[in-house]
Formats: sequence, C-alpha cells, structure tokens
Amino acid sequence: MKPTFHAETVNDPLGDPALFLRLLRERRALLFDLGDISRLSAADMMKVSDVFITHMHIDHFIGFDMLLRVLLRRESPLRVFGPLGVTDAVEGKLKGYTWNLIHGYPTKIDVYEVSGSQIKHTGFYAENEFMRLKIGTDSFKSIILQEEGFAVRALELWHGMPVLAYSINEGVHININKEALASMNLSVGRWITEFKHALRTEASDDKIFNIDGKQIALADLRPAAIFTKGQKITYATDISPADENIEKISEFAKDADVLFCEAFFLHAEIDRARERNHLTAAIAGKIAKDAGVKRLQTMHFSPKYTGRENEIIDEAEAAFRGDI
Ligand SMILES: [Zn+2]
Ligand SMILES: [Zn+2]
Repeated sequence: MKPTFHAETVNDPLGDPALFLRLLRERRALLFDLGDISRLSAADMMKVSDVFITHMHIDHFIGFDMLLRVLLRRESPLRVFGPLGVTDAVEGKLKGYTWNLIHGYPTKIDVYEVSGSQIKHTGFYAENEFMRLKIGTDSFKSIILQEEGFAVRALELWHGMPVLAYSINEGVHININKEALASMNLSVGRWITEFKHALRTEASDDKIFNIDGKQIALADLRPAAIFTKGQKITYATDISPADENIEKISEFAKDADVLFCEAFFLHAEIDRARERNHLTAAIAGKIAKDAGVKRLQTMHFSPKYTGRENEIIDEAEAAFRGDI
C-alpha cells in the first residue's frame, strides 16, 4: 500500500522541534511546530499550506520569520493553528517589520486560535499591511481541519500554560485493484483521481466516467477499489507529566502508526521534569504502549543529554516494550 503521508523531524532530537509532513499525492506539506527550519529547502517550505503550533516558546516558533520570508510572493494562503495567544504571537512577529511596499503582494495568513470550546479566526493580509482582521469565532470540539482525504485534530494539554497536541488521520485509504481493472479491460489513467474523489465524497452510483473511450458507471467500477484503514500520526510535545495529561495523550494517540513525542529528561529526573512541565523518556514510552501505537519516535531531548541520546532512546523503548 502506498502511504499518503510521510513525516520527518527537521532537526535531530537535540535541535528545535519541527515536523515536516509531506502529502505524497499532492505538492503540499504540513508543519507541526516552527522551531529552526533552516534545514528545509525553500522548495519544501513553499509546499507548506498549514502550520500547527503546539505553543509559542521560542524553540517552537522562531522559524515563523523564515517561513514567511519564503512565502511572501505565494498566491495560496498560509493557515496557522495554535493555542491561546497564537494570534497575538503572529501579530507581534509581523509588527517587527515595515510593510509599506507590500500592497501588491498576494500573501494571506489565516490564524486559528483554539481555546476551550472555541476557535477564533483572524486574518493578516499583505493588502492591508498585515493589520489584524477579525473574521469570526466557531465552536471547537476536536477537529480543526477537515479536508477531503484527511482530518487534523487538536487536544489541549498543560505545560504551565495551554499547549496543543495534534493528530492527523487519513480516514479510509483507497487502493486500486489492478487485476480487477485488467479484467474490465481498463487502463490506469487520470480518471483514477476522479474515481477516488467520487468514492470519498460518496457520489451516486450512476455517476459516469469516460475511460479509454468507454462510458462506465461508478457502480460498475466499485470492484476496482480496495479500502483499508488510513494512516494516523500523532505529535505531542512540551507537556507536564501529570496523570491527567498522560491519560489524555494515550487516548488521543490511540492506534497511531507513529507517535512523535518529546522525551526531554531521563526518568531519574522526574522531579525536574515536573518542575519544568516536560515528559520523561519512560513516560513517553508508557504513553506509546498504552496507546498501542505501531512506532514511537522520541524527540526534543534536553541539551544536557548531548552525547547521551541513546540513553533516552533506550529508556523510552524499554517502557514502550513494557520492560520497565
Ligand atoms: Zn520545547
Ligand atoms: Zn515549551
């Protein structure tokens, strides 16, 4: 099965957090957190349609300027999702520069701020010199972005202040049964995209497709589709190790293919972890185990563990296996 998402951290575990998630069937990508992103190419930054910020500590948000610099002439808007305070943080960044020559630029930044049961939408557009423009407020439960092929959910957690964790779910994954196509004497072509779109949007059975000069109804094409469970990727970082948080994340990451999770301290330093509102490697492993994820990728280690990264990885893996 060809995957839909490919997710990779931009930096090593001692570097700033930023997860680059490529949507493999589109020229498009998502970013989770905006630490130092200078390792990304400008071409990759240009693909970023949406950014999901956990919180605005400098190691998670300093990359905003660099992304903006690259996107300034892009036609399509950038959406930024984040916790309480993200609108002020984006405005503060934009106010740090002079914009008198930007009226003709197409740049649009749409900010969505999650707080409790509400999501507030604010626009910052080049045509208005990036002045704050209130757009509206909606109710928020879990889903912050719903697209045809996937949904992104957010969960509010505590890090001495509200932070968000994120999960991206593909929904059902549609593959094409090549043997079924061959038995119908049909060749693979551009109609496949339209066919998958029809299935995802539950189009009616009598919808007609023109394939190889033949007219075929959706109902007759159905055997060519194989449905499987879609991918799920969860990203959680900078979270206080309180039981309530741990239970919430385990539930939120349930059955994920990959959980990207901070492992800021070794568990020997649990007191320090509580004080600093960070998880330990052992707790990250326990969360992954309780959630039943397929793979745990630890990230965001305290710089004090430079040269000792394996100790963190080993502790998290041992807890994930249930050995400690
Ligand atoms: Zn951090
Ligand atoms: Zn933080």
